[in-house]
Amino acid sequence: MRFDGQIAVYDPRSPASPCYACVFPETELAPEADCATMGVFAPLVGIVGAMQAAEALKLLCGVGQALSGRLLMLDGKRMQWSEMTVTRNAACEVCGHSHAAR
Ligand SMILES: [Zn+2]
Repeated sequence: MRFDGQIAVYDPRSPASPCYACVFPETELAPEADCATMGVFAPLVGIVGAMQAAEALKLLCGVGQALSGRLLMLDGKRMQWSEMTVTRNAACEVCGHSHAAR
């Protein structure tokens, strides 16, 4: 959205890997908070998209270390990456212990 981009890998084959809902629990976003409304700086789509493709190919080929468990965030105004560790949420509505057996 705008000048910010994010990339992560959610690998359901790995029991330690969080799912998307672990990292971004469902909330009611204000309608103006989505990228369709706020817009996106077009080159960021290419930058993040190329990284997504690289991560997908790495997973398919079994090469290197996937981004699973890490969230990379790009500040496009400063062209600066930051990173945070993301973990599986045992209470996750999608993959948590009480919901995974469905
Ligand atoms: Zn989850």
